[in-house]
Amino acid sequence: MPHRPARQQFASDNLAGICPAALQSMLDADASGHQPAYGDDVWTQKSTDMLRELFQTDCDVYYVFNGTAANSLALASLCQSYHSVICSPVAHIETDECGGPEFFSNGSKLLVAEDDSDAARQGKLTPDAIEHMVTRRRDIHYPKPKVVSITQATELGTVYGVDEVRAIAAIAKRRQLKVHMDGARFANAVATLGVHPSEITWRAGVDVLCFGGTKNGLAVGEAIVFFDRELATDFAWRVKQAGQLASKMRFISAPWVGMLENDNWLRNARHANAMAQRLYQAIQRVPGVHVLHPPQANAVFAQLPATAIARLHAAGWKFYEFIAGGGCRLMCAWDTQPETVDAFAADLAAACDAAA
Ligand SMILES: *Cc1c(COP(=O)(O)O)cnc(C)c1O
Repeated sequence: MPHRPARQQFASDNLAGICPAALQSMLDADASGHQPAYGDDVWTQKSTDMLRELFQTDCDVYYVFNGTAANSLALASLCQSYHSVICSPVAHIETDECGGPEFFSNGSKLLVAEDDSDAARQGKLTPDAIEHMVTRRRDIHYPKPKVVSITQATELGTVYGVDEVRAIAAIAKRRQLKVHMDGARFANAVATLGVHPSEITWRAGVDVLCFGGTKNGLAVGEAIVFFDRELATDFAWRVKQAGQLASKMRFISAPWVGMLENDNWLRNARHANAMAQRLYQAIQRVPGVHVLHPPQANAVFAQLPATAIARLHAAGWKFYEFIAGGGCRLMCAWDTQPETVDAFAADLAAACDAAA
């Protein structure tokens, strides 16, 4: 039975559906009938070749169902159980993966780099914070730092510039740490920076990227891209053991083909980012609204009066109130319509007016 589409929301970019290009590829893959399983199909070959072309390097690529698995398995492949991973206090791997990275690595500890710099308030790790975590203890009783994990775009809707990624990778190299990038919103970061994707990954010193597809318009599926192929030794077995090897792999990989063709991934991200800018422009001067920082990707973080939040929720709007201590998170998606932004902004202004 057909349903009328529900109202668009700002709770997360994973509330959105599948983008037409990805869906069409899925249908094409289905129309191709019986195909080899477990990734031995033409679609998986093609999407992998396209990712190599996109990054201009002979990387090793794996597909898993979700971001938690991508991050957890990638980190596990970089660590022994006695190693540790340096990350920001707001990192998804720390706050939202239910201990997955520790579990899949058999106990590698996440070392949260507390820091009161402006960059840290924007959800970023800094070279100084990394240096501090590495040098404060070197003894055998401390889990040996082995990886730096950064999120691009960050959990607070900001984006590391090319120089920031380079500086982090440089300190990592000096301290013999591998660099992992949680790119659940990698597309949004590339769209913001307007740089070639290689510039903020392997050319800057990133060893492995978890390239998010779901939030950018896929139904399911993230690509794990190893720029340092040696780090992917036996990774296929790790994926299988974790229950992340799709037997009908083509239905994960084919949508990547549609997404990568004609720069659809970038178009989706640019649109989501533009909607966040539209929302920011519409609400930043509303009395009672305190936008925490200008959006650099597809989310606006703002403190709102409690009564305004209650009114908006009562009016049916869904969004999170306290993500990473960053106030209300208003997340735009690849399909967010300008009319939805305008309607929400109008309701928000009325709710703040009533709260004043
Ligand atoms: C959404 C997200 C993920 C992946 O989450 P899953 O629900 O496991 O797919 C990873 N990192 C960040 C920063 C995210 O926002």
